[in-house]
Amino acid sequence: MSRAYAEVIGDPIAHSKSPLIHNFWLGKLGIDAEYRACHVKAEELADYFAQRRGDAAWRGCNVTIPHKLAVLEFVDDTGAMVSAVGATNCVFVHDGLLRADNTDIYGVGDAIPADADSICVIGAGGAARAALAALDQAEAKDVRILARDPAKAEANLSSLFDRAPGYEWLRYFPLDEASQAMSGASGVINASPMGMTGQAGMPPELLDAIALTQAEAFVFDMVYSPLHTPFLAEGAKLGRKPIDGLVMLVTQAAYAFRMFFGVHPDPDGKFDAELREMLTA
Ligand code: NAP
Repeated sequence: MSRAYAEVIGDPIAHSKSPLIHNFWLGKLGIDAEYRACHVKAEELADYFAQRRGDAAWRGCNVTIPHKLAVLEFVDDTGAMVSAVGATNCVFVHDGLLRADNTDIYGVGDAIPADADSICVIGAGGAARAALAALDQAEAKDVRILARDPAKAEANLSSLFDRAPGYEWLRYFPLDEASQAMSGASGVINASPMGMTGQAGMPPELLDAIALTQAEAFVFDMVYSPLHTPFLAEGAKLGRKPIDGLVMLVTQAAYAFRMFFGVHPDPDGKFDAELREMLTA
């Protein structure tokens, strides 16, 4: 049999850091396999999965923009969480079947404190859905979603995670009500691209509102390019606990690695510093 491999698919794909991360771990663990980047356009998805299903060396793929939703029709099994979120970032082979998972949810879950509650989530797209799934698992009782179009956010998100009828754990705020959304929060998660290289910066009124969170609150920025964002800097200046986007990026990759290659790549975190150095070089 040819050499085992997994890959990341997307369009475009050259920017993906997944090959760097997975090949770093494969090298450290001495596993004879490789992880590739594969450029797949939307119209090529059906052929891609038909071909890979017949390839015994293929262990699965990470899925990135714009296919996180579209690939669901080519897999055999989607877990409840993937169905709720409506997106997958990881397809793997299990007992001869293609299964879809969403390791971004585990990435958020591991990044934030287990007792996370009173959380403000900025943004209402795919990453915010992963955050909501993790917060739902943590049984957070009070989540405030700060979005530039709160009505659209509510229409897209409110029915995703059903709790008891009439139990409303999600509230929606426009960006100019950042003060209300962050007031007394025990954590703020930026799940929008604000602050990312090439994107709009985080507006001053959002940065100012961090001061209204609890003194021991965390600020978690999913943006990892740049790694040190004004959002994290403002939180740190106020004494809040900063959590950067690489924590989630590396954690979601570790869960995917285990599905592809059957072993957690770094359970004790002993390669973490070297990996972070490589990713930020
Ligand atoms: P997405 O599905 O396109 O959603 C982006 C969300 O942010 C949407 O709700 C969008 O609002 C909102 N938004 C975009 N630009 C905005 C602006 N200038 N002001 C206010 N809101 C704005 O993207 P995504 O997949 O959720 O990704 C969001 C960010 O998370 C990206 O920076 C991505 O790199 C990062 N991310 C990081 C990780 C990690 O492992 N660290 C994993 C996943 C994602 P509309 O709905 O109105 O367009």
